Amino acid sequence: MKYDVAVIGAGPAGSFAALKLSSLGHRILIIDPCDTKKACAGIMTAQYIRKYGINEDFVEKKLKGSRISFRDIHAEITYRKAVEYSINRELYDRVNLNEAIGAGCDLKIDKVVSLEEQESSIIIRTNKGSIIADYAIIASGVSDLSQLYGGPKKYAFCVQQKKDIKPGDYYEIDLQPGAYSWVAPKKDHVLTGCSSLEGYPDIPGEKGFIPFEPVKKTFSKRFLLVGDAAGFVSPFEGEGLYYSRRSGEIAAETLSEAIAGKNILKDYQIRWKKEFDFSGLSMISYLISNSRILEAFVRLTRDNEKFNNLVEDIITGENKKIKITEIGFLIQMLSKDLLLKSRY
Ligand SMILES: Cc1cc2nc3c(=O)[nH]c(=O)nc-3n(C[C@H](O)[C@H](O)[C@H](O)COP(=O)(O)OP(=O)(O)OC[C@H]3O[C@@H](n4cnc5c(N)ncnc54)[C@H](O)[C@@H]3O)c2cc1C
Repeated sequence: MKYDVAVIGAGPAGSFAALKLSSLGHRILIIDPCDTKKACAGIMTAQYIRKYGINEDFVEKKLKGSRISFRDIHAEITYRKAVEYSINRELYDRVNLNEAIGAGCDLKIDKVVSLEEQESSIIIRTNKGSIIADYAIIASGVSDLSQLYGGPKKYAFCVQQKKDIKPGDYYEIDLQPGAYSWVAPKKDHVLTGCSSLEGYPDIPGEKGFIPFEPVKKTFSKRFLLVGDAAGFVSPFEGEGLYYSRRSGEIAAETLSEAIAGKNILKDYQIRWKKEFDFSGLSMISYLISNSRILEAFVRLTRDNEKFNNLVEDIITGENKKIKITEIGFLIQMLSKDLLLKSRY
């Protein structure tokens, strides 16, 4: 049987792409070996909740806000209107995949090893055989497969551990130049994790990659890259669930139209670029990759209400796109702070 679209990977990017395409009446196959547990802090951000709401079944804890720290400087950001949750990631993935299957998508438990683009179809080779489809979606995260087809080359190495510590109501992020560690509260424990650009931190735990830059080209003649496979994660605090789900949907809409002969795959890149503001977030994370600026950033978040509110808006994605005036305000405040400190 020839499928309209083969979706490779059943994380949020793949499952939501498969759900949307199946709901639109297309013949869809999702392929995943279903053999790994994902390392994820499971923070479902305000941006995600605003767009998609929350399924209470996933919720481990409702959060009041975030705490950011640099060395011994700690700032608390209590959300004024945004809502954020800590969720059970394993359950979330399972439910999303089941919904796609419920909408008519077929599942093949297998690992894709290569793709071959042809004039009017794509051949997907797996460990057990091959599949033919009109198009494919690569939703395999930062993996050997996505690397073969233009996936992210820049990513952080992360390790996460479960700790039997009483959970609080805030997501805690300890910032270091170019890296961060976190404490994510769950129902009756916490998940602590840390990231490094130099390879996996030498501690036991679940391992995973976080890409921090979108790849230059997210489309080919017969396939699209979505979610982590396209490098869609906020470089500021590692939020990826929203971008995975939304990019899966944008890819599904683009392919549905391509199947009907109404557009070309390049439109996908134009569409996600209109929605996702990675350049504003990159600018901020670049700014705070210097330890003196980072120190000023956390101190101002602690001491200045207007600055604290702006950091809240960035973390919660309140304005969708970061305005140039907001970046200007951040830079102005940081420069003032650094100037004052240098006088003493
Ligand atoms: C430690 C850590 C903590 C994180 N915490 C958060 C957080 O709190 N909040 C947040 O928003 N984001 C967080 N993220 C990011 C988030 O987990 C990712 O952005 C998100 O999982 C990406 O979804 P995806 O569907 O693109 O890929 P994934 O969820 O990685 O799914 C990829 C799927 O592809 C399958 N696959 C891989 N190779 C193949 C192959 N060859 N053939 C077939 N299938 C294949 C895998 O089995 C997997 O199921 C975190 C990431 C890490 C590493």
